[in-house]
Amino acid sequence: MKRSKGKPMRKRSARAPAFENVKGQIAYCGLWCGSCAVGNGTISELAGRLGKLIKDYGIEEWGPKGVDYKGLHESLASIHAEPPCPGCLRGGGRTNCEIRACATGKHLHECVECNDGEACENLKLLRHMRTGALGVGMIVKEKKGNRSEFLRKGEAELKRKSPSSVLFLD
Ligand code: SF4
Ligand code: SF4
Repeated sequence: MKRSKGKPMRKRSARAPAFENVKGQIAYCGLWCGSCAVGNGTISELAGRLGKLIKDYGIEEWGPKGVDYKGLHESLASIHAEPPCPGCLRGGGRTNCEIRACATGKHLHECVECNDGEACENLKLLRHMRTGALGVGMIVKEKKGNRSEFLRKGEAELKRKSPSSVLFLD
């Protein structure tokens, strides 16, 4: 690849494969799995980096007393080692999800394509999932529209956000 003058070539983060797996997945309820910190590797990445920073800075020697540093490192290491969620379309998300079962039963990719409206028996759950996802900073497709365009804009927004942007730092 040709390097443009004066601009160092950026390397992908080591956690990129997790994001690559979920970046094209829009769940039936509209949650974009690419923006989920569990699926895109953000939580794992942050746990790994925090553990390393605590060690590198020797916080155990000069930092707050009364912290169980051994337990903290063990906990961060196990969070870091946890495999990322594979995404709603690849077996992740809620076990036996009623929304997924209903949408696939109707041969729909997304609930926004559904004509049931207020008659949807999963409406409460649907709203709960979307509100919760928006509350933690996820990006949700709540309207009909071009999926590729949504994903393109979503990725650009994710890169601007923190802490999800940690995935795009070298
Ligand atoms: S499992 Fe259900 S609630 Fe979870 S992301 Fe998939 S469709 Fe949405
Ligand atoms: S009835 Fe509800 S859960 Fe089922 S596809 Fe329509 S909007 Fe989705």
